[in-house]
Amino acid sequence: MVALDIAQLVRSGQVEESRAERVQWLWNEIRRLKHDKHAFLPAHNYQVPEVQAIADTVGDSFELAVRARDVKARLVVFCGVRFMAEGCYTLAPDVPVYLPSQQALCSLAEMDADDLEERQEFLRSLGRKFATMTYVNTYASVKALSDVCCTSSNAVKIADRLGVPDLLFVPDQNLAYQVALQTRRMYLPPPEPHQFHPREYLARIEPLLREGERAGMVGNLFAWEGACHVHHQMTLADIAHIRQEDPEAVVIVHGEVKPELQQAADEVMSTSQMAKYVESHPEKKRLAILTECGLVVRLELEHPDRQFYKPCRLCEHMKAITLESVYETLRDEPAHCLVTVPEAVRQRAAAAMLRMIDLGA
Ligand code: SF4
Repeated sequence: MVALDIAQLVRSGQVEESRAERVQWLWNEIRRLKHDKHAFLPAHNYQVPEVQAIADTVGDSFELAVRARDVKARLVVFCGVRFMAEGCYTLAPDVPVYLPSQQALCSLAEMDADDLEERQEFLRSLGRKFATMTYVNTYASVKALSDVCCTSSNAVKIADRLGVPDLLFVPDQNLAYQVALQTRRMYLPPPEPHQFHPREYLARIEPLLREGERAGMVGNLFAWEGACHVHHQMTLADIAHIRQEDPEAVVIVHGEVKPELQQAADEVMSTSQMAKYVESHPEKKRLAILTECGLVVRLELEHPDRQFYKPCRLCEHMKAITLESVYETLRDEPAHCLVTVPEAVRQRAAAAMLRMIDLGA
């Protein structure tokens, strides 16, 4: 990642001129405290630029999970959302992990582990052998019930390498579609949220199971009913508008957008894949990137020679982390910001995460 300075952030409108002095002071203090306390600050791609600027590493959830496993620090202040901080603690439980805001949650991660157990039981009652593949955007209690985790950047590779034809894919229904498509599994759409009725669900999926068999698919993918509210609200009209305005622009969408948008886009990628794509394709001068705005803003700062259309959306959970809250957390190490997981749950969640790291390598 390119180092960001205060003049650049003011010029681009990311920091108001009246705040520039305060931001610079906070950066200096955070750097001093990081050094004195031997602290590590990972930041997700969706964090605001002034937070990314003082992070030790910036990446997507897979990259941050791998770095968390190897962390050698006295404490971690995680600039992301709660499931990521939990993931960091899950892989490195000897290092205290602090999350600067209690509001840094995730609409996708809010699913109930009991509901997952119920669905697993239902599939077993049908006599189906399946693996539960869980997106890292979940809490440890859900990961603990899973065979393997995945992120949007490695989900296809892991589904290919698992060696199990049928998958229960949790919780993102849109990423589930992309995985089914790319691994030649039959996509079995989820029930409506909180509307799982075994008999109705079975009646809906049975014809599709037969169709998949006839078509010689590798297996089936049972999708869960979750979605990221940020990506799920993007529409085909967002893409149509770009195509009309600039037919030459490359349209890249995140795997969490709805299937019809994935079909209409030029590329479907994770956030880190998007950043690498922009880096490695200097000839692509005009791009529309449909994901959370934090990544697009960073790409604009790093590549001023390109034009980025921004049909992006903000995630209020990611934006709950502010530079002030990072500073105060690092300074005070408040107990209420500590993120932990019960040990029995942590061990099972760690096994699913480590399997992801092994299979995704
Ligand atoms: S962008 Fe979506 S998946 Fe990411 S933290 Fe926000 S709500 Fe969760």
